Amino acid sequence: THFGFQTVKESLKASKVAEVFSSVAASYDTMNDVMSFGIHRLWKDHFVRSLDPGRKPGGQPLKILDVAGGTGDIAFRMLDNAAKVHHDFETSVIVADINGDMLREGEKRALAAGYLPSDRISFKVEDAETLNTIPSNSVDLYTISFGIRNVTRIQEALKSAHRVLKPGGVFACMEFSKVSPAPLDAIYQQYSFSVIPLMGQLVAGDRDSYQYLVESIKRFPSQQEFAQMIRDAGFLTAGRGYDELTFGVASIWKGIKP
Ligand code: SAM
Repeated sequence: THFGFQTVKESLKASKVAEVFSSVAASYDTMNDVMSFGIHRLWKDHFVRSLDPGRKPGGQPLKILDVAGGTGDIAFRMLDNAAKVHHDFETSVIVADINGDMLREGEKRALAAGYLPSDRISFKVEDAETLNTIPSNSVDLYTISFGIRNVTRIQEALKSAHRVLKPGGVFACMEFSKVSPAPLDAIYQQYSFSVIPLMGQLVAGDRDSYQYLVESIKRFPSQQEFAQMIRDAGFLTAGRGYDELTFGVASIWKGIKP
């Protein structure tokens, strides 16, 4: 980032990300099911259950920001948790994403499922790196699920997460991570680099976007490195700062703004 040529590379990356998600927006939900054999649903359920969002006895309804929220998978689950577990219909979620096409799919789903029209959910085009329209110290819970690896300057996004959270607010991130033990990783690498682009081609008619997705997973830092980046942004973490799901295929990192 200190050199001019790298800035050019980074802006290329940002436009590539925009292109990928515009082209996969319509098939995104189906492809998630196909590629992960439906497991992403279990991970998302687990992620939201572990956060247990909603108004606690004697507390206030929460202001939640779901960054890179795409088609709303995490946001809808959080509203359901608030309603079903806490009888809370006032907690609200802003779904923020850099890509208007993904948000439009999300809005369609929100209308179909009855979350809209209401004040409980809103959709906003926002870059995770800047979160320009989100005031500082305004958010109780910041979530980002399978989004952070697409962000060009991850440390900037973490700094913005820290800025918008209230003191005591929670940062929670779910992302693909490093698989262990090694023999399982070998199988996983084989699957992701050969099967996923092929499925992208067959199911969504788009090999390149899915090739990009598997490469972005490979490039993402290790569980430990990313936990350190979260601490560098000013968050406190409990223990090592993350929990692994399914042999590390995905992990959940959490931090608290002091
Ligand atoms: N959170 C959803 C989920 O778990 O299914 C969607 C994840 S999808 C794989 C990644 C999303 O990140 C896309 O909707 C993409 O537009 C968004 N994205 C990529 N770069 C971003 C950025 N800099 N700021 C905000 N969103 C971004």
